[in-house]
Amino acid sequence: MSFFLALLSALFAALSGGGGETPSGETITIPLERSGDSSPSGPLPAISGSNDPSRPLVVLDPGHGGRDPGATSPFGGRHEKDVTLAVARAIRDALAAGGRVRVALTRDDDRFIVLRDRYEIARRMGAGLFISIHADAAPSNDGARGATIYTLSEVASDRQAALLAQEQNEADRIGGAPLVEDAGVNRILIDLAQRNSMNVSAQFAALLRREASAYFPFRPDYHRFASLIVLKAPDVPSILFETGYLTNGTDVAYINSPEGQRQIALGMNSAIETHFARRTLATASR
Ligand SMILES: [Zn+2]
Repeated sequence: MSFFLALLSALFAALSGGGGETPSGETITIPLERSGDSSPSGPLPAISGSNDPSRPLVVLDPGHGGRDPGATSPFGGRHEKDVTLAVARAIRDALAAGGRVRVALTRDDDRFIVLRDRYEIARRMGAGLFISIHADAAPSNDGARGATIYTLSEVASDRQAALLAQEQNEADRIGGAPLVEDAGVNRILIDLAQRNSMNVSAQFAALLRREASAYFPFRPDYHRFASLIVLKAPDVPSILFETGYLTNGTDVAYINSPEGQRQIALGMNSAIETHFARRTLATASR
């Protein structure tokens, strides 16, 4: 009983203040501790775009890098890690030109970063949105094309999503990152924040499809769920964006072309600006 009361009062204390947002629109604070020794430190990436520190920050994460090349395209042999960096830079440039948000990249060169460090960069910088950029591959189905958005769920939406999570999460083994689980009250607070972030992430996924489908194609089942480590920042809404298929000739041509990258960036820019405009409105109307 006393443990239960202590737990309740800890939760209550944590929920009174400013910070995240519940589905009903109330504002809550969740003081999340990071698990000590596995937390990265060191320099944070440069910020482009607005100079106003009150503007929302978007952290773009070019998938793979360094000794982890990701998928390789049968059309031209380009590695996914190079494609994701080019696309992320194009999105960064579009967001910076728009001037409404601040934007940073987890990597702006060819380097390996473990999955947890990628989202910890977003957390340490106080990002309002984290977008991990990838490119799909379906070697046995070269007709598969279009973009897919993944958001976090412990239960995968389908077998392919489960396989993707298995493959992507393997990347950490290359870097030898320890998997640290948080325990006790902190775990419950993290779960609350995570649920809120998952809701906002899913809203952004729908918005991205709506805003960007004029610029580039999406798969019919464009929103999928998987337990992807890189999406596990408990307090930063996060998506993994599969730009298109490296195994489809049409997709590869537009993903690799400056014009295709510009279209992807325009669609992403439109969705991101609308997302934060909505959230500013929601806050102002309270
Ligand atoms: Zn990938």
